[in-house]
Amino acid sequence: MDSKGGVYENVVAQFNAAADLMRLDPDVRKILARPMNEVTVNFPVKMDDGRIEVFSGYRVQHNNALGPFKGGLRYHPTVRIDEVRALATWMTWKTAIADIPMGGAKGGVQLDPSGYSQAELERITRRFTFALGSTIGPDYDIPAPDVNTNPQIMAWILDTYLSTIPPQQRAASFHVVTGKPIELGGSVGRDKATGQGLVYVLERWARDRNFDLAGATYLVQGYGNVGSWTARLLKPHGAKLIAVEDHSGAIANPDGIDPDDLQAYVAAHGRLAGYAGGTAIDHATFLSTKADFFVPAALENQITAETAPLLNVRAVFEGANGPTDTDGDQVLAAKGIEVLPDILCNSGGVIVSYFEWLQNKRSEFWELEEVDTKLFKRMTSAYERVQAAAHDYGVDWRTAAYIVALRRLEKVYRERGIFP
Ligand code: NAD
Repeated sequence: MDSKGGVYENVVAQFNAAADLMRLDPDVRKILARPMNEVTVNFPVKMDDGRIEVFSGYRVQHNNALGPFKGGLRYHPTVRIDEVRALATWMTWKTAIADIPMGGAKGGVQLDPSGYSQAELERITRRFTFALGSTIGPDYDIPAPDVNTNPQIMAWILDTYLSTIPPQQRAASFHVVTGKPIELGGSVGRDKATGQGLVYVLERWARDRNFDLAGATYLVQGYGNVGSWTARLLKPHGAKLIAVEDHSGAIANPDGIDPDDLQAYVAAHGRLAGYAGGTAIDHATFLSTKADFFVPAALENQITAETAPLLNVRAVFEGANGPTDTDGDQVLAAKGIEVLPDILCNSGGVIVSYFEWLQNKRSEFWELEEVDTKLFKRMTSAYERVQAAAHDYGVDWRTAAYIVALRRLEKVYRERGIFP
């Protein structure tokens, strides 16, 4: 499975379709049509063998009308400025739909982390953070984990950032990144938050349709943070994971694959290939497996004009950002497959990141029950806002989600006005 180009074109097409439909204020449209700031840094890092490698890193800040820029950092060979631009833009819509006082940003470094030692990854992360300098800041722009980044990487960012500011400000600046290890001010429940939010959406969708999750079958693409947590949290509902794919291949088992057992295998081996609980299948077979729903939780542009015709499911719940391109959307609509979009489904991550940020600012530690209860409320009200817009405008879930986001941003710009 390759991540194809043109991902920013998808965001622009989605934005234009919704803006036309809801008659977005033309001035606000001009502002939201492009990111506010784009930073590219090329920085040298010493490798274990003494060689120097130069890496390209990016941070795109799309919009901060609602609050500080917020969004993950990705380490992947496909990271390019237009991909980061797209991901930053989706973050603006996501925070607006989730109704949290934050804007949208995204960043990353173009590299394949599997080719580097832990010590090299630490130096890359620290040098990247140093190169970003005051581009990030606890009340200005707050990174978080994304593809191939994790709490350890957030800890290195935190330590590097704190080392560059005056000692008197350090204790009050831990909220410069979220998704940190718990001991460093991370929030309980952040690790599973994106999967948990998606499962809350799924539960609600199932309830609205009198659809029984017990015995329901599903496919997951990507078995990292989002994919594995989604599957593990669906297990108590009795839903059956019958096929799963990651960067190493795909496996199927019509009797069901145990999500916890698979997670333990992937944690030990770094891939699902070789797992004994399923039979290896190819990409096309994976996509055409008949199931009740599909959770793409890997990379963007996976459901396209070529692949969408293969899908044999009732609904798609987008865990990944941008897994469906505009052609893919049209094919799914024609096939009657409902698509619950990324900017609604995967917002649990940024919502709990916001909770972590708040806890750090207030020097508090919340219990898991409090985090989950607050996440549930936010996911549910976001779902209901999008559902209402879909009903009012007679549109699909994605367009409705855009309408909710754009309405909120339009209102804020109307009230604030434009300086000077
Ligand atoms: P991750 O690095 O933990 O996992 C990524 C998974 O995708 C891995 O299983 C990997 O093997 C798989 N993958 C990579 N390339 C693949 C390929 N070519 N074919 C099939 N599978 C492939 O990343 P993650 O944090 O789980 O993020 C996954 C998606 O969810 C991304 O689109 C990310 O932007 C989005 N997302 C993540 C969060 C979060 O909180 N981590 C929040 C919102 C959205």
